[in-house]
Amino acid sequence: MCSVNEGEPFLSLEVVPLSVPVSSDFRRRVFSFPEGDFLKYCMQCSLCSSVCPVARVVEGFNPRRILWEVFLGLEDNVVDNGNVWLCLSCHLCMELCPMKVKVSHVIMLLKNIAAEKGKVPDGLLEEIKYIFKTGRSMPLSPAIDKRRTALSLPPLPGVDVEEVQTLLRKLKFPFNEEGEKK
Ligand code: SF4
Ligand code: SF4
Repeated sequence: MCSVNEGEPFLSLEVVPLSVPVSSDFRRRVFSFPEGDFLKYCMQCSLCSSVCPVARVVEGFNPRRILWEVFLGLEDNVVDNGNVWLCLSCHLCMELCPMKVKVSHVIMLLKNIAAEKGKVPDGLLEEIKYIFKTGRSMPLSPAIDKRRTALSLPPLPGVDVEEVQTLLRKLKFPFNEEGEKK
């Protein structure tokens, strides 16, 4: 049975100070995008996290939590811990969300915000540099050619590297061609 001692409050609410800064500008910015505006319908049911293939294998990756941190304006958390880069953009979360929240689009938006701040994982930067130089995301090898022939597939067409470079430059990516922050 529950008992309350005389003089003690029945319910004690403790205010715990946040140890991370809160940015209302960040929150406003995410909500100002058409995809971000859908966040207001999120009821934190966690369906997105339960179907996410990354959350199943990577401890600490949780799309519902990412959205909650956006709500709270915890920009440093969202941008610094690098979790958004683990998202595969498979869009399963968005397909199944009962409230039609654009979860994966919001995560893409957060990746853009992280990139603006220079918070891009090294491995990804290397890949971007490679695409810039060759127009391809991975090197071709005789083994790939052999496998394509075995599968009766035609040889891979050539790539117009200059066109790829023009497109990448237009993206205003905040890194130079050597992968250094501009
Ligand atoms: S985004 Fe959708 S699925 Fe995920 S917690 Fe919010 S309402 Fe639930
Ligand atoms: S889009 Fe990203 S967050 Fe959504 S289910 Fe796929 S990997 Fe998970």
